[in-house]
Amino acid sequence: MMGLEAAKEMGREAVWAKVREAGLKEFGVYQQSLTEKWEQDLAERDRWQVPLKVIAALNNNDTNRALLGLLKASASQVLEGIQIAAYALEAESMALYLPEGESELKDSLAAAAQSAGVELCEGIVDVRQARGSSVNHIETMAALSELFCGTYTPGSWMAVCKEGKTGELQKVTFPVKVGDLAGVSAEEVKGVLIGSKLYDASGLELELTQDTNIGNGVITILPAGCCMMDEEAKQLLIQRQNGCGRCTFCREGMGQLHTMVREITEGKGKNEFLPMLEEIGNAMSFSCQCSVGQTGADFTQGTLKYFADEYTDHIKKKKCAANVCSSFMSIYIDPSQCQGCEECADVCPADCIEGKSGFIHMIDEFDCTKCGKCIEACEYDAVIQTTGRVPKLPTRLTKVGKFKKR
Ligand code: SF4
Ligand code: SF4
Ligand code: SF4
Repeated sequence: MMGLEAAKEMGREAVWAKVREAGLKEFGVYQQSLTEKWEQDLAERDRWQVPLKVIAALNNNDTNRALLGLLKASASQVLEGIQIAAYALEAESMALYLPEGESELKDSLAAAAQSAGVELCEGIVDVRQARGSSVNHIETMAALSELFCGTYTPGSWMAVCKEGKTGELQKVTFPVKVGDLAGVSAEEVKGVLIGSKLYDASGLELELTQDTNIGNGVITILPAGCCMMDEEAKQLLIQRQNGCGRCTFCREGMGQLHTMVREITEGKGKNEFLPMLEEIGNAMSFSCQCSVGQTGADFTQGTLKYFADEYTDHIKKKKCAANVCSSFMSIYIDPSQCQGCEECADVCPADCIEGKSGFIHMIDEFDCTKCGKCIEACEYDAVIQTTGRVPKLPTRLTKVGKFKKR
C-alpha cells in the first residue's frame, strides 16, 4: 500500500502531475497518454451521467493472455494501481475483470480484492455497460503502482510465442529490434505478428519504440512452413468465438471473413472474395465497439497486403504450396510399395482403406479425411501424400507384386 499512501499524501492534483510528467501511457491496444485518457473518461462520465467506476482488464481481443502473468505475479501491485487511479479520478467503485475460465485465479485473488474494495468479474468487458467508466489495462495499473512506489522504469512487458508456445514475460526497454527479441532468422519465418498486426518476415527488421502498438504484448512467429490461409482461418475463428456479438460489424463481419477464408482453405474460394475481404475488414476496423472487432480484421488485412500470392494459389491455382490445406491434397497407396500388411487399415478412423493380408491396399478418397494416420502407420512408405497428379492405381483387390500399370 506504499504507493497508495504516497499518492494520497501528495494530493490529487500532484498525482495527475506526476503521471503526466512520467509520460505514463495506457498499455495494450489503445495506447495514449494516461492523463489524456483519464480526461476523456471524465468527459464521458459527464456525458452519460453515471457514477464513475475504474475498471482494470486485459483488452477484450487478448486471447493469448500472456499479460495476465503480471496479475499472477503481483496482484497487489495491480490492485494498488486500481486504487490509485480511483483516487485520482474520484471514482465511486472499482472492478477487475479476469478472462473467462480463470476461476482459479479469481478465487486466489478474492481476499486481496475484497480488502482493496475491488469487485472481481469474469469475462470480457461489456463496452455498453461500461459506458462512462474508466477502463484501464492491467499493465497500466501495475505501472501506476510502481510509479508511486518509486520503482517504475519505462518499457513494456512482452513475450515471444514460437511453435504455439508463449515464452516468459520480460520487461523490454525501447528501442529494440523485433528479430533480436524473437531470436529467429528470416529463413525460419513466414510471418510475424506484433500484437495483432501481421507482417511478413521483414517484420523481424522492425524497431519497436515506446509508440509502437504492441497490443497483447506478444510477438508471434509464424514458421516458414505454415500456410497463411490456414493461420488466418484459425485466427478468425478464435476472435469469432471470443466476441460478445453485440455489434453488427463484429458479429456479421467476423462471421463473413471467417466463412470466406475457410472456404478458400477448402478449395471453394472465389475471385470476388478478395475485394469483399478488404471491404469488410476496413469497415470492421472503424465500426466495432471494442478491440475484438477492431483487431479481428487485422490478420485479414495483413494477409491481403503481404501474402496475396497465397490467395492466388488457393483460389486460382487450387493448390496449397505449404501442403497444409488438406482439400488440395490426395493420399494414395503406391501399389509398387504396398506389402499388404494391413497396418494402415487398422489405424484408419474413417474405415476407408480396403484390402486384406497379402493384397495391395486401396484408399477410398471419398471418405478419407486426410488425417495422415495411415502415413505414420506404414513402415514401407507406401502411403503417399501429394498435391500433384495421382498415378494409375488398382481398382480391385490385387495380390502384392501383381499390379501392372498398363
Ligand atoms: S467488437 Fe465484438 S466483442 Fe467488441 S463489443 Fe462489439 S460485438 Fe462485442
Ligand atoms: S500401405 Fe503400408 S501399411 Fe498399408 S497395407 Fe500397404 S504396406 Fe501395409
Ligand atoms: S488419411 Fe486418415 S482417413 Fe484417410 S485413409 Fe489415411 S488413415 Fe484413413
